[in-house]
Amino acid sequence: MRLVLLGPPGAGKGTQAANIVEAFQIPHISTGDIFRKNLKENTPLGLKAKEYMDKGLLVPDELVVDLVQDRLAQEDCKAGFMLDGFPRTVVQAEALDRVLADMDMDLSAVLNIEVDQDLLLKRITGRRICRSCGATYHVEFNPPAKEGVCDLCGGELYQRDDDVEETVAKRLEVYNEQTQPLIDFYNKTGVLIDINGQQDIDKVFEDIKKALEGAK
Ligand SMILES: [Zn+2]
Repeated sequence: MRLVLLGPPGAGKGTQAANIVEAFQIPHISTGDIFRKNLKENTPLGLKAKEYMDKGLLVPDELVVDLVQDRLAQEDCKAGFMLDGFPRTVVQAEALDRVLADMDMDLSAVLNIEVDQDLLLKRITGRRICRSCGATYHVEFNPPAKEGVCDLCGGELYQRDDDVEETVAKRLEVYNEQTQPLIDFYNKTGVLIDINGQQDIDKVFEDIKKALEGAK
């Protein structure tokens, strides 16, 4: 099973990613992890990436693709993998296709978890976190017994700066602008599977499993 997972902030992508790698026994591959590992181990690719980062520059696509290629060539990816956070652009998606073709592979599916914009806003802006124990709540979907107070430890609940409406709206806008061309690209190549993310977490995962039945 060779997958790409797409979904906006607040769509529950992290939860589903964890479900998928467990159910299909495939590695979860994120560019963040690849970067950290290569930097930590001072690999030739990691050192190259560091040159850009030290100058405050974006790591160029080619190098990102080289890093991903290096990761996909490793033993644990033989039985499949799930890419998360890559590709982000059509250029990267085209490069990924070439990388896979070189290894006689292709993508089984690109899962796109869809959630309505208004619901995403509601989900994220309603999040509250306990200052003392880190427990998470939602003012509407998972409220504490007493407003502003943690059920578990009595700590004070707060909202992360990133979770205020203006910031979230901007984040979603950037995501949509960046991702729509990618969705169109995968729609055209026939591997895109839309998943309704506006359901119960378990039901979303059931739909994912059903969608992947028969996939290679
Ligand atoms: Zn607490």
